[in-house]
Amino acid sequence: MPTSQSILDIVQRTAFVDTHEHLCEEAVRLAAKEGRAPGPVCDIGMLFQGYSESDLYVSGMPIELAGTLNDPQIAPRDKWRHIAPHYARCRNTGYLRNIRETVRLLYGEDDVREDNCEAISARIKALIEPGFHRYVLREVANIDFAIVDGIVHGRVFHQTADPDIICSDINTLPLSTDLNIPMVALDVNREPSSLRDWHGIIDEVFAQYGPRAVSTKNQSAYARRLDYAPVDAEDAAPLFSRYLADAKSLDAAELKALQDHLFHYCVRKATDHALPVKLHTGFYAGHNSMPIDRLRHNISDLCPLFMAYPNTKFVLMHIAYPYQDEAIAVAKQHANVYIDMCWAWIINPTACIRFVKEFLMAAPACKLLTFGGDYFTVEKSAGHARIARLGLAQAISELAEEGWLEEPDIQPTIERIMRGNAHELFGRQRASASTA
Ligand SMILES: [Zn+2]
Repeated sequence: MPTSQSILDIVQRTAFVDTHEHLCEEAVRLAAKEGRAPGPVCDIGMLFQGYSESDLYVSGMPIELAGTLNDPQIAPRDKWRHIAPHYARCRNTGYLRNIRETVRLLYGEDDVREDNCEAISARIKALIEPGFHRYVLREVANIDFAIVDGIVHGRVFHQTADPDIICSDINTLPLSTDLNIPMVALDVNREPSSLRDWHGIIDEVFAQYGPRAVSTKNQSAYARRLDYAPVDAEDAAPLFSRYLADAKSLDAAELKALQDHLFHYCVRKATDHALPVKLHTGFYAGHNSMPIDRLRHNISDLCPLFMAYPNTKFVLMHIAYPYQDEAIAVAKQHANVYIDMCWAWIINPTACIRFVKEFLMAAPACKLLTFGGDYFTVEKSAGHARIARLGLAQAISELAEEGWLEEPDIQPTIERIMRGNAHELFGRQRASASTA
């Protein structure tokens, strides 16, 4: 069934809010380009690094080549020799398709080949100039603003240099489930001596960054089940004291109880500050390391939280892939649950087309967020936004063609799911007011 041109036009014209990124600051990219500091490499290695690299390894590229792609001392042509045979074996996955979308949008080529890998590398370098984040996000990708995970810069919260186009989450991992006292101490200039002290430090972090943040984020799903039990402070306090003395003295059940207590504390803090709680659910980045049975429980593990905190807005990231049907079910059932398609379009583009269709037929359209680039380098987010627009236009066209979406609803639905819901949820107005 062909995508309707008029629907594609509406989707192209409509700006996205990019709800999840890990973007390095522009200053980091400039320093890496000039060889002043480490950072993402400025040649075709940048395109194939990260997610694409995982597909290359899974399709047979020797793991010994890890590190090659980001080595500025290795010539683009030599990198290409390593990549080419494996790229041919996985080039139709969303991750690798995104490389072609990115080079089309930014470098005027339709693919990476031996005969253009040096020229593309030169264009990658040339694009990295002051202001290129704004150019790529606004002018190429038509993005209103992007939300970055603060922890990419090694802090709970990162104040970006471009607050009108990039805003940040407070990452609650170091405060709770991956208790990282040295990292948090950088922000508050003191070490805790008790659980009560640590509560005070969490309060301080929220008081300091809450007004500038747009949400909180936690990705503990990479390390544990999401079955956060309610644990009282009086039970958690001795565990915290023992953790301070010797973190390894806690057994697995004790550590879980301490994490559970602190996670609940952070959910309450986020709610006090009117910040949505974003949680990683579903698929893992990387390769050869995903215990899928744990992922299978993500959504059901979280249901008690949805009911315990009716005034908290929970945003389930990455559609819980491959358990996206369960994500639709909880968005339909619980008033306080939203589903975010960040990263998902490149994990599995056709699953996302099905997902959008099924979501809109089952759950309120106001619960859906349809794009987050989820990259360290802004260039690939532009390609990702292009894939998301093609998929969204196809999903909406199919619903219209099949008679499930009526003509007057098409434009308002597109506007809502591409940007309107995110503006409502992340209180952009408040963030801009406080950073002005
Ligand atoms: Zn991410």
